[in-house]
Amino acid sequence: MKFATKAIHAGIEPDPSTGAVMTPIFQTSTYAQQGIGKHKGYEYSRTHNPTRTVLQNNLAALENAKHGLCFSSGMGAIDTIIKLLNPGDEVVATNDLYGGTYRIFTKIFERYGIKCHFTPIQEPAAIEKFINSNTKMVWIETPTNPMLNIIDIEGVCKIAKKYQIKVVVDNTFATPYLQNPLDLGADIVTHSVTKYLGGHSDLVMGALVVNDDDLAEQLAFIQNSCGATPGPQDCFLALRGIKTLHLRMDAHCKNGEIIAHFLRNHPAIDKVYWPGFADHPNHHIAAQQMRGFGGMMSFTLRENRLENAMKIVENVKLFQLAESLGGVESLIGHPATMTHASIPKEEREKSGIVDSLIRLSVGIEDAEDLTEDLRNALGFL
Ligand SMILES: *Cc1c(COP(=O)(O)O)cnc(C)c1O
Repeated sequence: MKFATKAIHAGIEPDPSTGAVMTPIFQTSTYAQQGIGKHKGYEYSRTHNPTRTVLQNNLAALENAKHGLCFSSGMGAIDTIIKLLNPGDEVVATNDLYGGTYRIFTKIFERYGIKCHFTPIQEPAAIEKFINSNTKMVWIETPTNPMLNIIDIEGVCKIAKKYQIKVVVDNTFATPYLQNPLDLGADIVTHSVTKYLGGHSDLVMGALVVNDDDLAEQLAFIQNSCGATPGPQDCFLALRGIKTLHLRMDAHCKNGEIIAHFLRNHPAIDKVYWPGFADHPNHHIAAQQMRGFGGMMSFTLRENRLENAMKIVENVKLFQLAESLGGVESLIGHPATMTHASIPKEEREKSGIVDSLIRLSVGIEDAEDLTEDLRNALGFL
């Protein structure tokens, strides 16, 4: 089955009891049993819920995976994956990780004896100098937030395999429409469904997918034991959002390309970070492992001044100043004071997050209206 068909049909059958074409919202915590040990596969909704089962199977199909699990947030999925580890285990992760992932490693799991090494992974070989006999996991994101760095998934997996280390890929930015890390050798793929998969900024959810049966069983055990499962209403919204994922992603990519070129040609702008540019440092890898370059980008101003960046994010009218990304509507953000404010200035500037850096999540509005909005907002420079 091709992607567009899977988005709409994979794992989804008309409801057997009524024929309802759309998956019903099974708003129930518990299920009648026909006798001790006799039930229809559902006992309690933390463990299994029919709306969630359909979503999990649909997401697994989109990532060419055997198993999918959903969570009440992206961080719920990430928490579950890290709980595969034991005290004394070590992780190697990319240094420009999503802020929440950096926080859970350093502020939560370090206290439980799990050590995470953070390093730039422009070249896969960069992970090798942090690998020792305790290393059990490599954690990458690609493209990264907010610098849109690209990591060679296949290259990282090849090195990790040599040492029998599991590779986790946070595929939130690319979505399964643009990139399938399991096909490139990854062991676990995680998503913030809150972003492109949901796509309408109306829910918070996470997911993970795997191929390995034992790994799936361990993760489902942690999911049920720790309990960060989503409600059926949110599962319904995610299923509804996913039905248009391919159309939305095509529109994000198209608008992304137009806006990236507009910004690059604007005299007030210094650098534009977008993996679709031929001179992006890892463009060739993006072109190999992705089917499009997406609508996420960041840019800096020739005059690198905080007050100029502040003025731009206040001047725009269509772009909303907000956290998050991946919805149909365009959003603008200022990493240095928003998502990355907790990182000391010196540290964040090392990875390129300077005071004038602005991040865009380009939506699917008319591209001319979006460029006009940015042109007006930049007009004072
Ligand atoms: C938002 C995000 C998360 C966390 O997901 P939540 O749904 O907010 O818990 C993890 N990784 C990336 C790349 C994200 O953008």
